[in-house]
Amino acid sequence: MNFYSLNHKAPKVSFKDAVIKGIAPDKGLYFPESISALPHSFFEKIEALSDHEIAFRAIHQFVADDVPDEKLKEIIANVLDFDFPVVEIEDNVATLELFHGPTMAFKDVGARFMANCLGYFSRGEKSEITVLVATSGDTGGAVANGFLGVEGVKVVILYPSGKVSDIQERQLTTLGENITALEVDGTFDDCQKMVKTAFLDEALSKNRRLTSANSINVARWLPQLFYFLFAYKQAKSKQQEIIFSVPSGNFGNICAGMVAQRLGMPVKHFVASTNVNDTVPAFMQTGNYHPKPSTPTISNAMDVGDPSNFIRIRHLFKDDFKTLSENLSSYTFSDDETQEALLKIYKNSGYVADPHGAVGYLGLKKYQQNHPETYGIFLETAHPVKFLDVVEETIGQSLEMPPQIQKVLGKEKKSIAVKSYEEVKSYLLKS
Ligand SMILES: *Cc1c(COP(=O)(O)O)cnc(C)c1O
Repeated sequence: MNFYSLNHKAPKVSFKDAVIKGIAPDKGLYFPESISALPHSFFEKIEALSDHEIAFRAIHQFVADDVPDEKLKEIIANVLDFDFPVVEIEDNVATLELFHGPTMAFKDVGARFMANCLGYFSRGEKSEITVLVATSGDTGGAVANGFLGVEGVKVVILYPSGKVSDIQERQLTTLGENITALEVDGTFDDCQKMVKTAFLDEALSKNRRLTSANSINVARWLPQLFYFLFAYKQAKSKQQEIIFSVPSGNFGNICAGMVAQRLGMPVKHFVASTNVNDTVPAFMQTGNYHPKPSTPTISNAMDVGDPSNFIRIRHLFKDDFKTLSENLSSYTFSDDETQEALLKIYKNSGYVADPHGAVGYLGLKKYQQNHPETYGIFLETAHPVKFLDVVEETIGQSLEMPPQIQKVLGKEKKSIAVKSYEEVKSYLLKS
């Protein structure tokens, strides 16, 4: 299958080239040329399939020209070596836990899938590929972990000094090998600007093969559709209409859910739940899209003022506002509301959510006010210990450290301090 640029001013490319390039030369996001529904029998008998079989059949059409079946099976087995349980916390309200991976963030699946694909595509190549990525927290750790030890690929992560949590910082600075962390004296926006400048810098691209590992990359974006199928498999026996509430920042995860819907998965409605960064909720109210600078919140992985993947969602619905509204609602919540929800969930059901999951819960409840007969699933995108201070303070309980996190706590941080783009560039040229 080929992928085309959503700006329509660049040639179509294979899956392999879309993964290596990341973004099209006309700066558009790549989009699959077609999405064919899976047979009804796939959904009718989904309980009988393993997660690996589900994933293989769901992603096969997108990658099969470039990844042979046996290799794809191997990649899926590498990527999906942990569980994705649906946990019911109230009548008709369940959470899909996506945080059982190595860095306890849902980005582990996309990052690992991309790392495995890129490792496969760069086999036998003489020149290394450098993956350059800016992170406000969770992306860095997941990408670092996913790419650790992948031959022919070097990873350079830019993160804002003092603005990620201690656990997040350790996850991206303690691995070594082919992973380097550049600690930027600045904000996340500064990091992202440096990455963008690097991609446009001809002197650099002549000497280095650069790609990005953000969710604009199709190999990070598409495998997220697995989650929704795994949830459907577990919730199907309820025989109720299913809705998903997805805590959203760049809208890659929810967009992948909508691709699962195109594959034929029965789902009544999607809810995009956001913090006060409400560009999409405002769009769904007014039909006008106005990006704005991001505002910091306690659900900081969703502090995005101009969500990069929303264009893919609009395209999926042929830019028709009416059909989009029939399938998507979007609500915004403040930090106070998020903390109240964390406490309420804990008091009512003993369940400890993280701030992102709590935003998802709020969106779900809001939609269910008018649709009480639905079975609602909100996505838990990170383990609560990754947001230790705010969660412990809100529920008044201390949390236990899972082994994945304990492992990094004792390790020594190694980073290179940088102040300007010139320093980033000179590092990339000499490394
Ligand atoms: C990245 C992230 C999100 C947002 O996902 P998008 O695909 O960018 O919408 C939500 N929660 C957590 C914990 C994240 O790391």
